[in-house]
Amino acid sequence: HFGAANSDPQLAAIISRELGRQRDEIELIASENLVSRAVLEAQGSVLTNKYAEGYPGRRYYGGCQFVDEAEDLARERARALFNCTYVNVQPNSGSQANQAAFMALMQPGDTFLGLNLAAGGHLTHGAPVNQSGKWFNVVSYGVRADDHRIDMDEVRDLAQKHRPKIILAGGSAYPRIIDFAAFRTIADEVDAKLMVDMAHFAGLVAGGVHPNPLEHAHVVTTTTHKTLRGPRGGMILSKDEDLGKKINASVFPGLQGGPLMHVIAAKAVAFGEALRPEFKDYSKAVVDNARTLADAIREGGLDIVSGGTDTHLMLVDLRRCALTGKALEAALSRAHLTCNKNGIPFDPQPPNTTSGIRLGTPACTTRGFGKDEFQLVGELILKVAKGLARDGDDGNAPLEAEVRDTVAFLTRRFPVYE
Ligand code: PLP
Repeated sequence: HFGAANSDPQLAAIISRELGRQRDEIELIASENLVSRAVLEAQGSVLTNKYAEGYPGRRYYGGCQFVDEAEDLARERARALFNCTYVNVQPNSGSQANQAAFMALMQPGDTFLGLNLAAGGHLTHGAPVNQSGKWFNVVSYGVRADDHRIDMDEVRDLAQKHRPKIILAGGSAYPRIIDFAAFRTIADEVDAKLMVDMAHFAGLVAGGVHPNPLEHAHVVTTTTHKTLRGPRGGMILSKDEDLGKKINASVFPGLQGGPLMHVIAAKAVAFGEALRPEFKDYSKAVVDNARTLADAIREGGLDIVSGGTDTHLMLVDLRRCALTGKALEAALSRAHLTCNKNGIPFDPQPPNTTSGIRLGTPACTTRGFGKDEFQLVGELILKVAKGLARDGDDGNAPLEAEVRDTVAFLTRRFPVYE
């Protein structure tokens, strides 16, 4: 993209500033990662020029022989990674993957069960502002007040009462391993399909450090850009070929036109990387680092929702120090630690303020941070939070500058995109 410097210096400068931000800040947004140069190159390749409506071998355009090979390679690698028979790598995003799965399994007005947004579910799992909430009859389940775990008794009661077409498991801010077998048992009892959205933890499944939802679910959707460390995009997987045919028709021509072949090529590259032994080390480190970070923060006196994490992410509950997620996100950002404010279960604050922040370890694990670095990151977060609680925004400035220096030291020791 530096070639753009000659033809469009204005945009080249913007990209360069974003590159600087990624190099110089500690990225703790749980849904982000740092892709390899090979992924960047495939995504920036001439495959962007190609129209390829349809599927390999059955396209509506000529000249698809090479993009067919790229899509087949992506599909083959995804099948090997997740041990399934059907895969569609064309969804442009995780949201579109979910829409396509819904379209294959439901009619507008049908009922489905999903995890409440406030308990860690995703917008596309039935939030009233999202198409999933507007077009379907949504019944939401939550987490228990005492341990913040999904209440399987509630899931069973709701399933038996409402007889949903789909029971959807997975979310964006649920830090614990989900009992897929228990979900499947309930789905079978009420003749529903079990759909799992593994967007957040797909990379952990690929790396063998998290149960594989394909062992229990009828259909699994995902993004490819979070823990899986591929290009921004979506994917749908299953072991049921008949259901796969319906899903293919839902993606194209149901929802999308020409697939993004350059992105599909980049998905193939990322899946190839995920099949290598080093990816197992990365995913194990992501989980180990998350435990270290959660322990450091808890030992420093802040609460962690559900008491800890089994995955790559955690939610910090700020009620005890009377901070909002909004204020702490801003203070951490000034100190060059990037995260997002996030609602916690039963949050008394509105969604644009919140009582929590969400933290994740994938991006910094990719750049080489280990337990020592995440212990230090935990201490830096505590320092900023305590300073903010004590002195407010203004008094916190010298302390934030000190933290920024430590961040600069750490990011220089673990450079990215040199
Ligand atoms: N599903 C889950 C669980 C997610 O966390 C997200 C993204 O945050 C999505 C779906 C949507 O993915 P996208 O942003 O690619 O539409």
